[in-house]
Amino acid sequence: MIKIEEHVSLRAYNTFGIEAKARYFCTISSEDQLIELLNTPEYKNQPHLLLGGGSNILFTKDYEGLVIKVNLKGIEVINHSADTISVNVKSGEVWHEFVMYCVQQQWGGVENLSLIPGTVGAAPIQNIGAYGVEIKDVVEYVDGIDLKTGKQKTFTNTECNFGYRESIFKHDLKEKIFISSVTLTLTTNNHILNTSYGAITSILAENKKSPSIKTISDAVVNIRRSKLPDPLVIGNAGSFFKTQPFN
Ligand SMILES: Cc1cc2nc3c(=O)[nH]c(=O)nc-3n(C[C@H](O)[C@H](O)[C@H](O)COP(=O)(O)OP(=O)(O)OC[C@H]3O[C@@H](n4cnc5c(N)ncnc54)[C@H](O)[C@@H]3O)c2cc1C
Repeated sequence: MIKIEEHVSLRAYNTFGIEAKARYFCTISSEDQLIELLNTPEYKNQPHLLLGGGSNILFTKDYEGLVIKVNLKGIEVINHSADTISVNVKSGEVWHEFVMYCVQQQWGGVENLSLIPGTVGAAPIQNIGAYGVEIKDVVEYVDGIDLKTGKQKTFTNTECNFGYRESIFKHDLKEKIFISSVTLTLTTNNHILNTSYGAITSILAENKKSPSIKTISDAVVNIRRSKLPDPLVIGNAGSFFKTQPFN
């Protein structure tokens, strides 16, 4: 049975480390739990906020509704072809941990997106991007649940309407869909490495390393660490290209 807590501190759940309280708070670890939640009075009678890693949310005061912490876990290869695989990743997986897993498995496509904070489920919402790559380049489809009807929905890459830090989930479907998993096409052979960003090229040249999934990921991690403080040490929300204040 789903556990709904009251007056929960959100400090550990946002990268600014802001002390705000949620009137109601619950953690969702499966699609079934979400469906169960949709029928509770706590969900029906007040506003709700889906929360991934809290790295793109700025709390300015307590949240007088229900905060739903997304915690679905799992990574599964669901299809193979000669040079590619389809990987289904549940929305509560930590994005960077997933990228590290891909690097370890020698799966190409997300190495330039190393060290971006947050969860897999939030990644398509603003079409996360860095160092010449965006998640839209590898998304096959996004699975979600309609928060009004509880029905499962699948959005193909085209249906996601991806743009620069944009997608349909920030516009027509804003706050209407619970993203439950993202399926990505990654390369297993003949990787298409993107070293177009000068800083990556310079690091590889300096360290006399030839481009590979691992060396690119390492270079991106080094560049990012030199530019931005670790949110675990100094609270921050990265670059303010489109970060949303939260009231
Ligand atoms: C240090 C730092 C560096 C960053 N660098 C980059 C960068 O290089 N490139 C980049 O693109 N972004 C960057 N960001 C922004 C951030 O990493 C991304 O926006 C990330 O995708 C947010 O993920 P999250 O899980 O923390 O989302 P949250 O902040 O928890 O939520 C963001 C939004 O998504 C919604 N949401 C979350 N999960 C779900 C779900 N499962 N279903 C439906 N809605 C959901 C929330 O309701 C909210 O509206 C950076 C942030 C920080 C702190």
